[in-house]
Amino acid sequence: MNREENSSADDTETDHAKWAVVLLVDDQAMIAEGIRRMIADEPDIRFHYCADPKKAVHEAIACKATVILQDLVMPDVDGMTLVRFYRNNPSTRDVPVIVLSSKDDPNIKSDAFDHGATDYLVKLPEKVELLARIRAHAKSYIAQKERDEAFSNLRSMQEQLEKMNTELSRSNRELQRLSAMDGLTGLANRRQFDTSLEVEWQRATRSSLPLSLIFADIDFFKRFNDHYGHQCGDDCLQRVANALQHSIHRPADLVSRYGGEEFVMILPETTADGAKTVADKVLAAVASLNIPHANSEAAEHVTLSIGVATLCPKEGSQPQELIETADKMLYRAKESGRNCIEVAQPSSTLKSVCN
Ligand code: GH3
Ligand code: MG
Ligand code: MG
Repeated sequence: MNREENSSADDTETDHAKWAVVLLVDDQAMIAEGIRRMIADEPDIRFHYCADPKKAVHEAIACKATVILQDLVMPDVDGMTLVRFYRNNPSTRDVPVIVLSSKDDPNIKSDAFDHGATDYLVKLPEKVELLARIRAHAKSYIAQKERDEAFSNLRSMQEQLEKMNTELSRSNRELQRLSAMDGLTGLANRRQFDTSLEVEWQRATRSSLPLSLIFADIDFFKRFNDHYGHQCGDDCLQRVANALQHSIHRPADLVSRYGGEEFVMILPETTADGAKTVADKVLAAVASLNIPHANSEAAEHVTLSIGVATLCPKEGSQPQELIETADKMLYRAKESGRNCIEVAQPSSTLKSVCN
């Protein structure tokens, strides 16, 4: 196999796309020399020559041919079969192949095109025709390759972007979840409580169904901390939070840490009687934790004081009304000796309780 290259062309990678890289596959050195002379002085065409048809595909890939000039009659492998080989190889599948034949025969032309040839020239062609065809085929091949590359880059960028978007929404969801959560107890935090109460308030206003609130505050918790230490205080808060969470079962119910050792429950579509039942359950659940509290005046274990309020919100009213009433009931429970429940009565504090 001989290889020859025009040396006048600039050899940098960036200019490479501008050249037509021609590979001539022909067993006759005389023909090769004739073609080489036609191309030799063209600065935009690089010339490679392969005399051994068995090495043609390999050579086309190695020199990155943008046009193959293919002889038909050769020893060992015939030109038609080689054209098929180029077409079946992913690296040469789209490289334009100009068949060079000594015969100007329509049947052979048709056969060559059937095998995948791009063009057909009778040997030896006119220099001007050969150069024009080489340039035209190389140009369209390079343009097609650039389009394919650009498209594939675009697709991989799009895939990357989609991946990043998925990751971003996952992070956003996680961030949202964390920003709504109390770090110590895992319950909803005060911000989530405010949002949920607003939503439930609107819903209850539309449906004219009762909305209940339960405020629960650990009794003598300062003394608990002072006696057992802050770490025990945190453990206690977690256990009480867990007991509260397990006292409700409706999907719309929400337990939040209102602040410090105070918790609040939103109970949508729940009457005062229903809320009182939940409050009883909460009190019993915390009692059954049986967390020793040596300095409590309410009991020998950790206890809660609970305030309950229920409202049927009216158009234009604010949830603050419900919060203040439940808080007032909690204060009353504290005054009544703690470890007990106070429920706002419809006739006194609340005029619009629905049950
Ligand atoms: P009362 O029965 O009237 O509610 O008395 P109390 O001591 O529970 O109420 P007070 O508001 O005087 O004290 C609340 C205490 O709760 C103060 C603080 O020591 C404790 N506390 C608040 N937040 C936390 C917390 O995150 N961890 C711990 N360990 N203690 C907390
Ligand atoms: Mg307290
Ligand atoms: Mg408190």
